[in-house]
Amino acid sequence: MGDSLLTSLNDLPIRDDLRGREPYGAPQLDVPYALNTNENPYPPSAALVNAIGEAVKGVAGSLNRYPDRDAVKLREDLAAFLNRDTPGAGLTGRDVWAANGSNEIIQQILQAFGGFGRTALGFEPSYSMHPIITSVSGTAWINAHRDADFGLDPERAIKAVEEHRPDVVFLTSPNNPTGTALPLEAIEAVLKVAPGMVVVDEAYAEFRRAGTPSALTLLPGNPRLIVTRTMSKAFAMAGTRLGYLAADPAVIDALLLVRLPYHLSAVTQAVARTAITFGDELLDSVNALRRERDDVVAWLRAEGLEVAESDANFVLFGRFADRRGVWERMLDRGVLIREVGPPEWLRVSVGTPEEMAAFRTALKEASKEVGEAGPGGVGGRPPSGERESL
Ligand SMILES: *Cc1c(COP(=O)(O)O)cnc(C)c1O
Repeated sequence: MGDSLLTSLNDLPIRDDLRGREPYGAPQLDVPYALNTNENPYPPSAALVNAIGEAVKGVAGSLNRYPDRDAVKLREDLAAFLNRDTPGAGLTGRDVWAANGSNEIIQQILQAFGGFGRTALGFEPSYSMHPIITSVSGTAWINAHRDADFGLDPERAIKAVEEHRPDVVFLTSPNNPTGTALPLEAIEAVLKVAPGMVVVDEAYAEFRRAGTPSALTLLPGNPRLIVTRTMSKAFAMAGTRLGYLAADPAVIDALLLVRLPYHLSAVTQAVARTAITFGDELLDSVNALRRERDDVVAWLRAEGLEVAESDANFVLFGRFADRRGVWERMLDRGVLIREVGPPEWLRVSVGTPEEMAAFRTALKEASKEVGEAGPGGVGGRPPSGERESL
């Protein structure tokens, strides 16, 4: 490179629409209590660790060859898992597709159904990667809004879709960062009027409360519906990078046109298949987390805070006149939560009982220090305003 002037991004002939953008960045800090990215806090058991080691060994000897390009066996296993999650779903491997995290699934959907001159619409506050992946794919993002209680009134949803006629609609249920699950009526209403594809992002589906249905039940007869899932959250496999979807096989035929050949490594496929065989064990931790979630919701309410209904493994709570101040003072105490969503709210991922005890103590001390006095933050510092969420 020599010792000439340093090159900056702006000196490069980068796409005009990427200029000035910041990379995605939930902080990856080394703290005692990381409660900011909705991971499952329980690591794989010793038995699963061993089984994964054996599975990787099993494929290691043939890593000179490309993996199964269509991940046929993994897709069959995922279909069987979904049929247990949602009895009556009746899915086969042909109805399921897998990729490196559901983020790659979403990217492939936009590559096939979005693109330059097309639009995608979402109801915010919602998952920040939907607009980012959308715009990076050259698709224009349309920001519609959820209701004040973070739900989605079917009539309002219909109006937004009819007004903008987007090529792709995103519905997140349970929603991130609010935790809110959508009733099937809202999804059906959107399906009825949407001219393009409807993506229901169910990254947190396994955490939903009893009686909350999955959009998987709507797949029959709806070839423009895509339901996305991930092994990153409930399955405790964020490091594996495995996301998947269920949809009509014709949708998967469309994705085959845009996916990179051999996108899913043999190692990933082997690890994911092994984790699925430990599904019951992994989902035991989900039940513990759901109980812990309901406890933290009750505690926050008893403390006088506003708390969004949660069907996920995180809780959105507020309101704080100075949420940045509370967030920083909690970090001082080793507890990293997420400054995300509407300006006066904070989000905490549900951790182990020990982690949640640290969260409670840190939140109480931090609120006191900043001068927050319950709902509305009466007596707190002036509002910090909307900031780039970390
Ligand atoms: C975490 C999350 C994802 C997923 O991620 P991957 O790790 O890429 O599978 C997708 N959607 C939502 C709403 C999420 O919160």
